[in-house]
Parts: sequence; C-alpha cells; structure tokens
Amino acid sequence: MSDCLFCRIVNGEIPTKKVHEDERYLAFEDIHPQAPVHVLIVPKEHIASVAEVVEEQAELLGGLITIAARIARDKKLDSGYRLVFNCQKDAGQEVFHIHLHLLGGRKFTWPPG
Ligand code: AMP
Ligand code: ZN
Repeated sequence: MSDCLFCRIVNGEIPTKKVHEDERYLAFEDIHPQAPVHVLIVPKEHIASVAEVVEEQAELLGGLITIAARIARDKKLDSGYRLVFNCQKDAGQEVFHIHLHLLGGRKFTWPPG
C-alpha cells in the first residue's frame, strides 16, 4: 500500500536501521525508542491490524514472535523483555500495518499505562 508508512519502509522508500530481514519479514529500530532496545517486527505483507487477522495468517503472525525471540537472544535480553501489539486506537495503534514491538533493556511495570 503506497500510503502505508511501514509498506514504504519495507519497500526501501524510507530508511531505517534494519535489525533483521528475510523474504517475509523486516525488523527495524523504532524511531522513538521507549526502552534501550525497541525493535518493530513487521510482515512484508500489508495487514492493517490484529483486529483484521484471519486463521490463515496464524503461521505468518507466529513468525513475528519467533523473530522477536531470536532478536532478544541476540541482544542478550536474558533478564526479560516485553512484546506488544497495540490493536486499534484505544490501545494507541498509530501505524495501521501490523507490527510487534520488542522492548527490552529496562524493567517494565504492570499494568501498562
Ligand atoms: P503503534 O503506536 O503501535 O502503532 O507504533 C508505531 C510505532 O512506529 C511507534 O513506536 C513509532 O515511534 C514508530 N515509528 C513511526 N515512524 C517510524 C519510522 N519512520 N521508523 C521507525 N519507527 C517509526
Ligand atoms: Zn503496510
């Protein structure tokens, strides 16, 4: 989608600091990091939100978690990290191309804000 920020990042139109890339996924550093490690993992295929996901996409979405776990291991986040999908506006979703936040390198509180 030409008007989607993360599709434009996937297509290389907008530069980012890449952490991982393969045929189906891209992971890059968040431009406004909320923790010492803040990486976004996206499928290259445009899916707007968790709210739109269908069962056939389960394997694709599972890959987001697998990649996040691999990046967390690479970055030695052994004492813990947080994975977040913001889903729709009340949860603070701003970019409507599905993305998994990997946050680490500090302690997190619960419940979240
Ligand atoms: P969300 O609020 O869950 O939709 O998260 C969107 C995230 O995208 C925010 O954490 C932003 O800081 C991040 N973001 C926005 N523009 C860029 C960009 N050009 N490169 C990297 N991250 C971005
Ligand atoms: Zn998109």
